[in-house]
Amino acid sequence: MTEIALPAPAASVMSDPGSPGRFGDHGGRYVPESLIPACAAVEEAFRDAWADPRFRRDLDRLLAVHAGRPTALTPAWRLSAELGVNVLLKREDLAHTGSHKINNVLGQALLARRMGKTRLLAETGAGSHGVATATAAALLGLSATVFMGEVDMERQALNVYRMRMLGAEVIPVTGGTRTLKDATSEAMRQWVTCVDEAHYCLGSVMGPHPYPWMVREFQRVIGDEARRQCAAELTTGIPDYVVACVGGGSNAAGTFAGFADTGAQLIGVEAEGGAAIAFGQVGVLHGFRSYLVQDENGQVAEAHSIAPGLDYPGVGPEHAHLNDTGRARYVTVGDAEVIPAVRRLARTEGILPALESAHAIAWVIRAAESGELPPWSTVLVTLSGRGDKDVATLMAAS
Ligand SMILES: *Cc1c(COP(=O)(O)O)cnc(C)c1O
Repeated sequence: MTEIALPAPAASVMSDPGSPGRFGDHGGRYVPESLIPACAAVEEAFRDAWADPRFRRDLDRLLAVHAGRPTALTPAWRLSAELGVNVLLKREDLAHTGSHKINNVLGQALLARRMGKTRLLAETGAGSHGVATATAAALLGLSATVFMGEVDMERQALNVYRMRMLGAEVIPVTGGTRTLKDATSEAMRQWVTCVDEAHYCLGSVMGPHPYPWMVREFQRVIGDEARRQCAAELTTGIPDYVVACVGGGSNAAGTFAGFADTGAQLIGVEAEGGAAIAFGQVGVLHGFRSYLVQDENGQVAEAHSIAPGLDYPGVGPEHAHLNDTGRARYVTVGDAEVIPAVRRLARTEGILPALESAHAIAWVIRAAESGELPPWSTVLVTLSGRGDKDVATLMAAS
């Protein structure tokens, strides 16, 4: 493993991490020698594209006409009345394919095409990122190969079928625990063999530089829209709290990016069974350094959460840094609090949230009811996705 050591990182909050891709002690580019040129090429292409108004216009247009952006900001009237705090929901559940994942994949697919690539590679756990990647590939005329653990393929058969309907090839990963961690390792291994024609479309703010930064920038549309919408909705303009669930951390990073320069308190909600910041130690996995859930021997542990999208043992390096510097606070919610939160939002607002998103709702309910949130404080919560995919889990749990 080799790390590229380059100039010092930028100092301001949630800015460009510079070429080392460092967020304080975290991040970096810990990949085999053979992948360093590929990562450097993605970085160079992204820097160039992100500074090009034409690329930004093309992406904005795709997000509008294909993904349904801007997504609504919904005041949760009845839940707010019950809790005595003012809850606003940023509705990524309304985005095409049912979650925020489409924001990132449309950006990366457009970048891949600009780089002259014809193929996307992706890892997927529950299948949401795989479905979003297959969708973006179909839209832009690229081929897609999705790596998925055998165990996950069985658990998420419907999403496997969806990806194949969209024209993607789904490749079962049979090594290790046959889940997301192994699918990610396999996708990175396969990328080495086909870097000339393939772009690795990573699904969250993790992996080697530039992915954590690039994915945050593709997801910052959530925070930027919410900032404008809050300015119109709230007399104070800025919410007191900004809350989002954290798996790898992309919906949270995109949301936080819109408010990092304000006085809003940023709260990331991890699943208790995969809480890398709460219970992890610093380590290196999948090309980056960050907090990882590990066993007593330093082996990366398996994450367990009722929410498949939060089943990752690591967390994006920028979140590790936001935690270390105190700019954001990270809390945990257990499975037992999640289903009541789904039910409560469904019955008060007519919105069935994804189990992942329900972690953020559950923390708001807990913090409001315990008095931690001052009466009538304003709370922006990102609803990362819709709960349709979780109906079978909800049925089994009731
Ligand atoms: C994938 C997913 C997540 C977790 O991913 P982040 O990168 O942490 O945002 C959260 N919610 C939903 C609905 C997802 O599909």
